[in-house]
Amino acid sequence: MTIKKLQKQLFGTNGVRGVVGKEITPGLALRIGEALGTMRPGSIAVGRDTRTSGPALADALKAGLLATGCEVIDCGILPTPALQYIVKEHYEGGAMITASHNPPEYNGVKIIEPDGTEMGDEETLRLEGLLSDQSVLTKPWDQVGKEMAAPHLIDEYVHAITSQFAGKPGKGMTVVVDPGSGPACQTTPAILQALGCRVLTINGIMDGTFPGRLPEPSPDGLKGLAALVLASNAAFGIAHDGDADRAVFIDENGSFVEENQEFALIAQHICRNAKGTIVTPVSTSQMVEMVAVAAGCTVQYTPVGSIYVARTMRELIANGKQVVFGGEGNGGLIFPKHQFCRDGGMTAATMVELLAMTGQRLSTLVGQLPQRHMIKEKILTAHGSLLIEQLNKKYALESIDKTDGLKIKRHNSWALIRASGTEPLIRIMVDADDSISGSALFQEIKKSATEILGNAH
Ligand code: MG
Repeated sequence: MTIKKLQKQLFGTNGVRGVVGKEITPGLALRIGEALGTMRPGSIAVGRDTRTSGPALADALKAGLLATGCEVIDCGILPTPALQYIVKEHYEGGAMITASHNPPEYNGVKIIEPDGTEMGDEETLRLEGLLSDQSVLTKPWDQVGKEMAAPHLIDEYVHAITSQFAGKPGKGMTVVVDPGSGPACQTTPAILQALGCRVLTINGIMDGTFPGRLPEPSPDGLKGLAALVLASNAAFGIAHDGDADRAVFIDENGSFVEENQEFALIAQHICRNAKGTIVTPVSTSQMVEMVAVAAGCTVQYTPVGSIYVARTMRELIANGKQVVFGGEGNGGLIFPKHQFCRDGGMTAATMVELLAMTGQRLSTLVGQLPQRHMIKEKILTAHGSLLIEQLNKKYALESIDKTDGLKIKRHNSWALIRASGTEPLIRIMVDADDSISGSALFQEIKKSATEILGNAH
């Protein structure tokens, strides 16, 4: 069973996104609101991250929903997974104004389905159809919707996470949180305090100018967090992206934990207590499968994009499979016992439990993981699909996987070649158990690609 990706016009893998005042305007938000209200008449929850453009876009989107007769529940500023949880529990849909990890000048909209997952490709194409043919159903005066504010619902999300953990696993543990001036200022410190941690914060005041660091939690942007972890003798530091569906970690020595290692550690922890399937895109390091198999679990691969992971998890469960965990190698992890979307707050809480249960330092646990060598590179070309077609033929006799692009699997290593859906480039990724075999495989693929592209001109 594999979910196929469909190409959309306006929406990308994670909603509509672009630069405010250029691609993203209140006019567009209004039309999205009208289209969503036409497609999903009912109670729609609206939230936003801390970006300066958020209020104008949220008001425009809400206007479209109200004009088409929806009841609007304004949840204010909150993490994307908090809005997803609130929609799943109470409402018939949701819209989140966010540009996730993109710089401050960006913003966008993610549409949330009644089950809390992001809208799938087929439904998004329907929504795009309504947007382009203007066939929205605005209502007369006595049928327009009403709006109410519900900022308190964020507490339900915090409680939903803390109630998953018994006792106070964080007792005696100092943790430093870097919400990056984003909406997790309201949630992650509260979650960790409820688990018994002593919590310090950096960039802990909501601010859409992002004065401390950019919304992408890169190792470079997290130097302040790393310094505070060391200075406070903390067990770990945690940072979120701009809408807190992702979380990344700094170990007790101030070192950044690579996101595939983070995924593998938490997979190992979950597989200790629950046996079943872990769902992840084909781009995730083999490390995750290695720890999963060693712990008696299996891995199911999907196309790249968290929505494909979430939907595959749901489908497997609907088919009677035991699914214990899912996620991507970028710090976006999905805990099916909580909800079917990436959740940075739940990831933070699980790390506390993991360290409490193992009694080990984070750096020690990372050091015990299988060693992998990853290479990622882009090649600029407008002939991406032709290239993949030709590589498909060239490597036809090898073990290949066409879930997303082309994955060539060799003993203990693989190469993945994917064409970008939005830019004229291809991405080559290699994952191997040492740098020598990794470099050799990478050079081989790059040489093949260059030859094919040379012939295409
Ligand atoms: Mg995000």
